[in-house]
Amino acid sequence: MNIEERLLNGDKRACARLITMLENNDEEAIEIIKKLYKHTGGAYVIGITGPPGSGKSTLTDKLTKELRKKGKKVGIIAIDPTSPFSGGAILGDRIRMNDLALDDGVFMRSMGTRGSLGGMSKATWGAAKVLDIYGVDYIFIETVGVGQSEVDIVKTADTVLMVMVPNLGDDIQAIKAGIMEIADVFAINKADLSGADKTQIEIEMNLDLNESKDYRPPVVKVSASKNENIDKLIEKLMAHRNYLEETEELIERRKRNTKLEIVKLVEEELMGLIMDKALEENLLDNLTQEIILKGLDPYTAKDKILEIIK
Ligand code: GDP
Repeated sequence: MNIEERLLNGDKRACARLITMLENNDEEAIEIIKKLYKHTGGAYVIGITGPPGSGKSTLTDKLTKELRKKGKKVGIIAIDPTSPFSGGAILGDRIRMNDLALDDGVFMRSMGTRGSLGGMSKATWGAAKVLDIYGVDYIFIETVGVGQSEVDIVKTADTVLMVMVPNLGDDIQAIKAGIMEIADVFAINKADLSGADKTQIEIEMNLDLNESKDYRPPVVKVSASKNENIDKLIEKLMAHRNYLEETEELIERRKRNTKLEIVKLVEEELMGLIMDKALEENLLDNLTQEIILKGLDPYTAKDKILEIIK
């Protein structure tokens, strides 16, 4: 059997191989996804974001175990925003999730981008499609932090789970400003610590401000490390899914996400083409130096870089 047939037959090793190819920016993997694209759409994608250290990784682990109890197959993609200069994923496959790796119904991978600039969305979305074709019921896309490019990826999930923690203090202001509106469900993790009620009030107050929609994101207090209220959180995630399906919002959302994906893929590809070349020729450093010495301005520098694709 070739790799395509093996993937369609739910072969875990074929799945792993294709995702590695995507990480290495191997176009052959993209060609395979193109051929099998009509087999996608069966998996439900949940994006998980929130500040570093809020417990996203621990929570993903517990959510996965809860779904496994219900007999669901789960794929997990953790995005590691590695610098293109250091290569490889920072965290590797995170240790605390390793017992899941032994479960045949779970596929887990940390993804970084290697080699070229950008390409993270392409690799991550590609991996999600591979998992979808492979036949998982749920895909978790989890970010390590809240950087813009990671948030852009998580935003294209069917349901976005935002993980908060008590005593965020001023951080909550920053989070509110940028990304709170992408959340469909809020989890206040580490509710075993004090301050969870206060955080809940802050989030609810914020939600009161834009209560125009017929769906209001629920706020659930959980403790991932103590495995408390995980079933309740799953219930809320499922309720959002039901809402989307019943109102046909899911079709609309997937349409919007597909559009975002195309734009992002074009953007990434163009940036890659241009900036790889500019870096290779030291063009970026040289132009910067000229600007500093007032021999050039940033606009002319931009034109010179764009000449690469002309
Ligand atoms: P991430 O960076 O968001 O993925 O966070 P991690 O999952 O790595 O968790 C960061 C730290 O918080 C770890 O030391 C966890 O053990 C701890 N942690 C996770 N969940 C809880 C919780 O519910 N309560 C408490 N007290 N600590 C937790």
